[in-house]
Amino acid sequence: MNKNTKKQLHCNGCGRTLSMEGANREDVLIVEKEWGYFSRKDGELHRFCLCEDCYDRIKKNFAIPVKKSRVLEYL
Ligand SMILES: [Zn+2]
Repeated sequence: MNKNTKKQLHCNGCGRTLSMEGANREDVLIVEKEWGYFSRKDGELHRFCLCEDCYDRIKKNFAIPVKKSRVLEYL
């Protein structure tokens, strides 16, 4: 068993280590995509994380803005 179970996540956009635990915990975007037959990457699983700043930077370049809706609070 590995005692060090703390997972270290890094933002693929800026390379920063993301804090996933404790008071400095932050919410991040994790994208996982299994490319299929109709792509040029058939059978490849791609995974990346983005911190909120990088996410905001990237979505600014979208032609169509991100669709937003309110999620019920789950406290
Ligand atoms: Zn980042």
